Amino acid sequence: MEKLYDLIIIGAGPAGLTAGLYAGRSRLDTLLIEKGQDGGQIAITSEIENYPGGLSGPDNIESGAELIARMTAQVAHFGVERLSANVTEVELEGKVKRVHTRHGVYQSKAVIIATGAHPRLIGCPGEAEFTGRGVSYCATCDGSFFEDFEVFVVGGGDTAVEEAMYLTKFARKVTIIHRRDELRAVESIRERAFANDKIEFMWNSVVVGLHGDGILSGMTVKDTKTGEERLVEADPDDGMFGVFVFIGFLPNSELFLDKVDTEWDYILTDESMRTSLPGVYAAGDVRKTPLRQVVTACADGAIAAMQVEHDLASGVIG
Ligand code: NAP
Repeated sequence: MEKLYDLIIIGAGPAGLTAGLYAGRSRLDTLLIEKGQDGGQIAITSEIENYPGGLSGPDNIESGAELIARMTAQVAHFGVERLSANVTEVELEGKVKRVHTRHGVYQSKAVIIATGAHPRLIGCPGEAEFTGRGVSYCATCDGSFFEDFEVFVVGGGDTAVEEAMYLTKFARKVTIIHRRDELRAVESIRERAFANDKIEFMWNSVVVGLHGDGILSGMTVKDTKTGEERLVEADPDDGMFGVFVFIGFLPNSELFLDKVDTEWDYILTDESMRTSLPGVYAAGDVRKTPLRQVVTACADGAIAAMQVEHDLASGVIG
């Protein structure tokens, strides 16, 4: 007979890793499945200054990768089994849940969905063509390619402004392109950006086209007030520039949409992270939540795992 785990956690971002930590400590027989690298979006976040107790590193600000490496090690310490695989299908009705991957089908009494979210795209012509050729969604991954070049950051929220500041370490100049004339980012982040003389702003503007010959060297920007469009071209000496896109996130919930209740594709849970299906829980950015931060994702993961433990022990599931 195939093995029956107590719990399968899908996704090893902060929510999934914390769920793994709590499940492992509770001696639940747990399998944690991740298709890429641990950490999800946080693994590609250059600086985290708001995770409680997390200030360390040379600038007294922690990188996402460092924080995640410690979480991963902690999960391993508590004996959680790991699988590197893409989940292709889930069967969540009934007492035994079945999670399909290319490596096989894995069975469990409970499932925690911690699949996170992905960056929203601009959606303009040229975006797909120039992704990896000037267009990026990860400053930590790609910032160093733009040493002494000009870089544009699209977005006006906390992420856009923080990543713009990070990019000033490499780029000659960073211009934030925002669709309004006021940033959404919180005051403390805004203040640091306004004080950074490498950062400029292009207000009331959206990118409507990205151009180049193999590499990004031009973009069409539209004025959101007047509707006027203008071409921004790379300095001829450079021949290229970077466009980093940080305009929010969308939930990674496609596999679950017709299975559990959702709102705007975010999975609905109760305060114990239970979804509309018995034995199925959701934690972190994939669920409908008022705040999407590392600290809230971790809290969700802890609550979900402890609820699984409680529901198994009391016979509600299993
Ligand atoms: P966000 O707060 O949703 O901001 C998205 C930004 O992109 C907004 O400025 C928005 O403009 C703009 N935008 C959205 N759709 C657009 C489009 N189609 N074209 C052009 N611009 C578009 O997203 P986020 O910055 O990724 O932050 C997500 C969450 O993480 C937030 O809760 C944030 O506070 C948190 N966060 C916190 C920190 C920190 O505290 N250190 C760091 C990063 C993220 P409008 O302003 O006009 O809507």
